[in-house]
Amino acid sequence: MTATATLRVTGDEGAAPPAGALASPERLKFEPDSGFYAQLKDEADAYFARTGLSPKDAPALYRKTAIIFAWFLSSYLYLVFGANTWWQAGLAAVSLGLSVSGIGFAIQHDANHHAYSKQRWVNGLLGFSLDVVGGSSYIWRYKHNVFHHTFPNLAGADDDIDLRPFARLAPAQPRRSLHRFQQYYMWALYGFLAPKWHFVDDYKNLINGRIGPHRLPRPRGAAMVAFFGFKLFFMTWAFVVPMFFHPWWMVLGGYALAAGVTGTSLAIVFQLAHCVDGADFPAPPEGQSIGMPFAEHQVRTSVDFADGNRLLTWYLGGLNYQVVHHLFPHVCHAHYPALAKVVAKVCEERGVRYRHEPTLSGALAAHFRWLRQMGEA
Ligand SMILES: [Zn+2]
Repeated sequence: MTATATLRVTGDEGAAPPAGALASPERLKFEPDSGFYAQLKDEADAYFARTGLSPKDAPALYRKTAIIFAWFLSSYLYLVFGANTWWQAGLAAVSLGLSVSGIGFAIQHDANHHAYSKQRWVNGLLGFSLDVVGGSSYIWRYKHNVFHHTFPNLAGADDDIDLRPFARLAPAQPRRSLHRFQQYYMWALYGFLAPKWHFVDDYKNLINGRIGPHRLPRPRGAAMVAFFGFKLFFMTWAFVVPMFFHPWWMVLGGYALAAGVTGTSLAIVFQLAHCVDGADFPAPPEGQSIGMPFAEHQVRTSVDFADGNRLLTWYLGGLNYQVVHHLFPHVCHAHYPALAKVVAKVCEERGVRYRHEPTLSGALAAHFRWLRQMGEA
């Protein structure tokens, strides 16, 4: 099974690049399904048949979307027009930053995976919520849906684990002496993720026509107009409008705090699901074979965390059920807690290791340990 064939199985065909768009990593092959993935899909289908629920268009997700958009808008309006003191502005900026992460976790992620709705236009429209908050959904669909989801934790192919030169996240990455402190300083650097995204990465990827080792087809026509139009819209609401009412340094301070909160929360949630000592980091294959079937690779390289925490599950859009998400990225996240039981059962029957960290603090400690381990000589 080739990587591009895998994208079809995972239901992301709407986001897959045109044939031949990928560079050499697309020649990597997974082993054929051992029956594990087929059984998982059969049992997931049985869950939907038994409950009569639809894999997409969950009413709870539409309600959540309205709540998070209202949270985002009210935080912004209060920050720009309502806050009168330092502490009010600070709280509003933190609230705005968390609401932007909420859009990232729980709205755009499902929409850009075509997991939100059966209607393409609903996914398309809500997918643009990422662009509204400063990221490019066009580039995200390649970076996340295609490159990360196909090759999680595979150094050289999963661009999300490439934080060089600041961090060493996989055994195959080179170690620098600085990395022996990475378990301490990386937490602060995570805050720069959102500004880097807003001002550097999307443009760099677009100009170079690459994301890490992968070729990125440049957007054309309407997609190109959307890329720059939304970037302009973001700059307008984030900087231009507030500067009509406040001095520039105050606007930059508010942006730095809000974007720092967004970057830290987004990065940490990603790291807790993949960059922990409970996840596998397969050695880059010497030939074309990754050495295991697609579904086993997804389960071994992802870890669920705080899976009983309902508030966190709500806010994170089910991204604390990362194993389930990697197996069923085309299913709306409202079903992840139920599907986690299906995954646990099938993994046990088939002897596939399924890792989950019961608490958030346990997952944070696991990420700390992994950073420390990778930084050691
Ligand atoms: Zn995803």
